[in-house]
Amino acid sequence: MLIAHKIALDPNNVQATYFARAAGTARFAYNWALAEWKRQYEAWKADNSLPKPSQAALRRRLNAIKAEQFPWMLEVTKNAPQMAIIQLGAAFKNFFAGRARYPQFRKKGVHDRFTLSNDQFSIDGSRIRIPHLGWVRMRETLRFTGKIMSATVSRVADRWFVSIVVDAQDDSHLPKAKNEPQDKNQVSGEFRRSQNQGAVGVDLGVLALATLSTGEKIPGPKPHKALLGRLRRLSRSLSRKVKGSANRRKAKAKLAKLHARIAAVRSDALHKLTTDLTRRFHTIGVENLNVRGMVRNRHLSRSIADMGFFEFRRQLEYKAAMRGGRVVVADRFFASSKTCSACGKKLDELPLSMREWTCSSCGVVHDRDVNAAVNLENMAVSSTVAACGEEGAGRRCKTAVKPASVKQEVSFEPV
Ligand SMILES: [Zn+2]
Repeated sequence: MLIAHKIALDPNNVQATYFARAAGTARFAYNWALAEWKRQYEAWKADNSLPKPSQAALRRRLNAIKAEQFPWMLEVTKNAPQMAIIQLGAAFKNFFAGRARYPQFRKKGVHDRFTLSNDQFSIDGSRIRIPHLGWVRMRETLRFTGKIMSATVSRVADRWFVSIVVDAQDDSHLPKAKNEPQDKNQVSGEFRRSQNQGAVGVDLGVLALATLSTGEKIPGPKPHKALLGRLRRLSRSLSRKVKGSANRRKAKAKLAKLHARIAAVRSDALHKLTTDLTRRFHTIGVENLNVRGMVRNRHLSRSIADMGFFEFRRQLEYKAAMRGGRVVVADRFFASSKTCSACGKKLDELPLSMREWTCSSCGVVHDRDVNAAVNLENMAVSSTVAACGEEGAGRRCKTAVKPASVKQEVSFEPV
């Protein structure tokens, strides 16, 4: 499985300057190749005897002309322009397969990155060696073992990161997902199915980042409110600065830094949640929010709304796959909130403001989110039983079922 670890770098000034130059070269090569691609495609449309554009041909062409036309390209690793054009080829491939939109030109300050193939760098503990540059300090050591495939150096606000892609052949160092009964003592008031081993339902929400069917509520990241307050103040202060002034530029940089900080806090909370869930539970039931116009009258916590439900599910699925667990996504019409988890009665309506409700059929008092999570857990467990074709075969065959929704996710940088 290909998996990426993104690590903050501590470059000195010379190294940071080199990064900026290499990223600039990569961006230039990408944009040059995209323009060439469009031109050659138009030419091919007019005359089919001409070759269709391809990334390999464009790389050869750039190699042939760069010494004469773009001599400054030779100052940085040859990987910077080459890998950028390979990525353009991948972007076109994704476009033709209907997976992505038409490739766009890269912008300075937005797409500052370059990629190195594995023969062009080496890693030693908490440092990485880059051609023309020597050793650069990393804030952490590489977390995964396996064959190192590539490294992408990128800038976020004023910081540089390296994302190292590893082909992790061996997941055995990871503890397997637990397939044992959880401690049910912490559950208060909610009806529980006692035979659910190592299964959990997860309700993503507004008030909490997530509510589990065990009754646990996982709060959103803490520093959030303070940072958002600072964000508002900084945005106001930026709008008062004169356009084109040095003060405006400084305020803009400050704001970008804060945005990156908030994104990092949210990303961290999401990673912690998905790691914790896949560690503790074998079978995880989640809602299907991956629908356009899903907003309806429901609002997700900022951490998940910003990152996207897709990212939550992506992390959950690849982490579960690494630990031998499975993720079951509910049918998009599954009424997780409106169904009583005790007797199965389905309400016609349940306003979002109603945090607690009493079932009119069986009289059980429900916490809205815990009830939804319990329904998702039951859904996940019964889907496993149904897949085994035998009522009550539950636990034994659970691991034998091929998780339909689990796919091998590659966390390459988007191209
Ligand atoms: Zn009921």
